Amino acid sequence: MSQYVYFFGGGKADGNKDMKDILGGKGSGLAEMTNAGVPVPPGFTISTQACNAYYDSGGKLPAEVDQQTDAALAKLEALQGKKLGNAKDPLLVSVRSGSKFSMPGMMDTILNLGMNDQSVEGVKAKTGNGRFAKDSYRRFIQMYGNVVLGIDKDKFEHELTAIKKKYKAKTDVELGEKALDEVIARYKVVVEKNTHHPFPQDPREQLVGARDAVFESWMNPRAITYRKLNDIPHNLGTAVNVQTMVFGNMGDTSATGVGFTRNPSTGAKEFYGEFLQNAQGEDVVAGIRTPHPIADLEKVMPKAYRQLRDITTRLERHYKDVQDFEFTIQENTLYMLQTRNGKRTGLAAINIAVDMCEEGVLTKKEALLKVEPQALDQLLHPIFDPKARTSVPVAAKGLPASPGAATGAVVFTAEDAVAWAQKGKKVLLVRMETVPDDIHGMSVAQGILTATGGMTSHAAVVGRQMGKPSVVGCGALDINAKAKTMKVAGKVVREGDPVSIDGSTGEVMLAAVPTSASEVIQVVEGKLKPEKSVIYQKFEKLLGWADEVRRLGIRANADVPKDAKVAFGFGARGIGLCRTEHMFFGAERLPHVVKMILSAARGQRGLDLTRRLKEQLKEAKGHRAMEIRKEIAKVQKELGKYIKDYTTALKKLEPMQKADFAGLFKEMHGSPVTIRTLDPPLHEFLPKREELMVEIAILKTKSATKNKRAIETKEKLLRAVEELHEFNPMLGHRGCRLGITYPELTKMQARAIFEAALQVAKKGIPVKPEVMIPLVGHVEELKRQKAIVIEAAKEVLGKGSGVEYTVGTMIEVPRGAVTADEIAKEAEFFSFGTNDLTQMGFGLSRDDAGKFLLYYLEHGLLEKDPFITLDASGVGILVEIGVKKGRSVKPKLKIGVCGEHGGDPGSIRFFHKVGLDYVSCSPYRVPIARLAAAQAQLEQPVSD
Ligand code: PEP
Ligand code: MG
Repeated sequence: MSQYVYFFGGGKADGNKDMKDILGGKGSGLAEMTNAGVPVPPGFTISTQACNAYYDSGGKLPAEVDQQTDAALAKLEALQGKKLGNAKDPLLVSVRSGSKFSMPGMMDTILNLGMNDQSVEGVKAKTGNGRFAKDSYRRFIQMYGNVVLGIDKDKFEHELTAIKKKYKAKTDVELGEKALDEVIARYKVVVEKNTHHPFPQDPREQLVGARDAVFESWMNPRAITYRKLNDIPHNLGTAVNVQTMVFGNMGDTSATGVGFTRNPSTGAKEFYGEFLQNAQGEDVVAGIRTPHPIADLEKVMPKAYRQLRDITTRLERHYKDVQDFEFTIQENTLYMLQTRNGKRTGLAAINIAVDMCEEGVLTKKEALLKVEPQALDQLLHPIFDPKARTSVPVAAKGLPASPGAATGAVVFTAEDAVAWAQKGKKVLLVRMETVPDDIHGMSVAQGILTATGGMTSHAAVVGRQMGKPSVVGCGALDINAKAKTMKVAGKVVREGDPVSIDGSTGEVMLAAVPTSASEVIQVVEGKLKPEKSVIYQKFEKLLGWADEVRRLGIRANADVPKDAKVAFGFGARGIGLCRTEHMFFGAERLPHVVKMILSAARGQRGLDLTRRLKEQLKEAKGHRAMEIRKEIAKVQKELGKYIKDYTTALKKLEPMQKADFAGLFKEMHGSPVTIRTLDPPLHEFLPKREELMVEIAILKTKSATKNKRAIETKEKLLRAVEELHEFNPMLGHRGCRLGITYPELTKMQARAIFEAALQVAKKGIPVKPEVMIPLVGHVEELKRQKAIVIEAAKEVLGKGSGVEYTVGTMIEVPRGAVTADEIAKEAEFFSFGTNDLTQMGFGLSRDDAGKFLLYYLEHGLLEKDPFITLDASGVGILVEIGVKKGRSVKPKLKIGVCGEHGGDPGSIRFFHKVGLDYVSCSPYRVPIARLAAAQAQLEQPVSD
């Protein structure tokens, strides 16, 4: 026979704290407390399995549930020496829901069950308090009528108001026994009218009705929505807790309250909470009377207070976590009604974990497991002043792409952002979507808000990398960048208007909400001394413990020295990805980049032809030699200009890149720096076709003759843009395909890397350059690019420079993953580019998925956004294959990941499990990755 009902009381319980699946959080807590000798009103829990059986059989329960309920009730009655519904001294119970995960207020509760026309007199006789008895009965009819019988609350309120009017009572408390008798009579009429049955007097019937109503409430729309929002599966079911009632409203020696063993907002070790004398739990929640701080309980009921402190301290030690508890004092006797691990802010989580470890309650390993890695984020970003935040309505919601609070005057272009910022204004950059060209505007903005794009859109990736609060894909924005306005929530927002975004929730507010700065960031940026910030010290202490445990190395994706410095400050030991293209957008570089692009195809062809002809010339004689010379001259005539433009542009760019790389090497103090050769399609560096066409048309209308030169230049640019147009740029001329077709480009970048390395090494700073070739799908691609890199290294470093380097590849094309054994023969390291691997493995465009992915997530087609958390059972298999095949050729092959997943705790667990050596993520996610990597090792130890 299955067990569906679990008893607790008399110092013993059938269940315990490890039975949350079956007993729910509340039921397992009550069982555990009972076993621990804590005063808990006795009762029993009907399991979640009964709830699931109820749904499986269309609202019926196995006969065993009724039998076991009857047996448990008889046991309870015997223990209490009272009977449910008894006319002299009745037992009263509460019936409450309680699922595995707390779902505050989502399901139903019924109090004072067992009240009827007889037992109400019994309560009156026993307590000598007629008012109390009648009030309890009317509350019961009201709750039962609403929750079990489905009668609108207002119908009861209506009657109560009428009686209050009659007796000129302002509050319920002013109603005396006689008035309450009238309320009860009226309530009974309401029930009869609405259900065509009298109010049930049989306590057994009441209990069955209440139990089934709680089961039903598991599937009410409110509960379903809550579960969806919080990733709680729908098939867990709720348990039902039937528990002896205790009353906090039996006069001034009674009270009820709630509390935390530590401050859940700051983590401070202080007894935190509130209580009300002569009140029931619902009065505390309803906000009709103002509760008192819990410290005051010591004055009014010192004995109960001391007992409460003692019990809750014990519970905290027992559960090894902050407890969120509910209690009732009935005539000076304390009862604990609930205890559970308290929810807390990121700040509190760190403080509590570190403090409890230092107090000897937790081991270091236990402390590490107490903090959600994501919670660390809250310490890094500015936050909205909590009080000010609640007074401002939310106008729209987008995807929370990069956490933190930002407020600023709205600007609609990157140029305006820069211009306003130069005038000392704080701006919020609003775009349909951002492009690499917007980088300068993004870098000066307080935050970034876009109307389209997903969690790996440009704005999201760069926002996170820069640590800028960003909300993306906010479809409710109707932006008119030209007019410099946007419509949202029926309002028109103009340039300069204040807007605030919360990158942790995706909320957009049309007002300036005050923010406060993060201390941790101030320390990392050198603006505050570590010893001045207690929270920084705790943060670093916890992460130091994480470093002792974790097996995965942590690197950062950083392109510029400033980001690298922050990453190092946060504990990154190495750069896993430097996207060299981000440096091409600086004002002094872009003209050379454009020149290089415009001349690359013809320039490279010219160089190749000339080189080949010159080779032939070495062998040729007489007439043949003359012919070759003529051909060389012809090539020079046709392509000479392009060759010159191409090589000159590259020459200009080389020292600039060298300076960037040198900065990175310096900031990393000898840790490896992985620099990737150029990756994006070249048209990203050029203006948009439509924009150019408009500009040309405007110039022509103004004056075609006066603007002749300008028109010609723009038309030339337009032709180039059209030539470079691709239907699928993400699968087009990008990645190593650029370096294959324009080898001079790879050569220039490789030279810049080695020149920088040499320069820094000469200053006595150790360097470890790693040159990474992107988008390799075939070993031959890597082989050819590697040859160019090695050649450049020979030229620059010569012999005996002492600079050691490696050449490796990204694995981000599915073919690259499945032929990783071939590729490993040429690669000295692998780095998984899981952004592209997801895009290509899943066939989901990074740039377009936003349009339908949200639907997939909302409708449960996908549990998680695969661009945020690695799709372990699909794309993850490609990663596993890549690792296995790669290491089948080179057992010690160093393998990391540099896609966005490198900073996601769930994905980090996966990378740990498949044996990667390191994860690389944006600088501001480094702390999260350190902690997540430690937790992964604690949960699933992997040896080296
Ligand atoms: C990737 O594809 O995962 C990656 C890191 O490269 P990018 O995002 O620059 O394409
Ligand atoms: Mg990529």
